[in-house]
Amino acid sequence: MSARGRSWRRGSSLPDDCLFCKLYREGDHVNATEGFVAIRDINPRAPVHLLVIPQRHVETFKDISAFSSHEAKAMLDFIAETAAHEGLSSYRVAVNCGPDAGQTVYHLHWHILGGHRLGPEG
Ligand code: 5GP
Ligand code: ZN
Repeated sequence: MSARGRSWRRGSSLPDDCLFCKLYREGDHVNATEGFVAIRDINPRAPVHLLVIPQRHVETFKDISAFSSHEAKAMLDFIAETAAHEGLSSYRVAVNCGPDAGQTVYHLHWHILGGHRLGPEG
């Protein structure tokens, strides 16, 4: 297992059947750092549609307090760094929290949408 694979696991349940735990381990990453990866969304709703996935498995944004201040800051820094890495100067960052907001994968993730002028829906 890589150094990245070992870190920040304590306290997380890491279910074997979680799609994003799997994509964290073995997905096609466009960017990666300690504890976080970015992948392209399989069903893009904008010319650039990335997903930032933390290694730590929490189901929704409601569980954000499971992240330490250090991890939360690192996650936000990685989102901004990934958008810049992708050449985006104007973009949207979104989290869908819960079924009525359209969440379909219950491992916290951040959408980065950009590459054209965004309307309210993307
Ligand atoms: P949510 O709807 O939970 O906010 O976002 C889940 C996102 O994951 C959706 O935009 C969906 O297109 C994307 N997605 C679902 N399955 C896969 C997959 O196997 N690979 C990738 N790259 N994205 C996926
Ligand atoms: Zn997971």
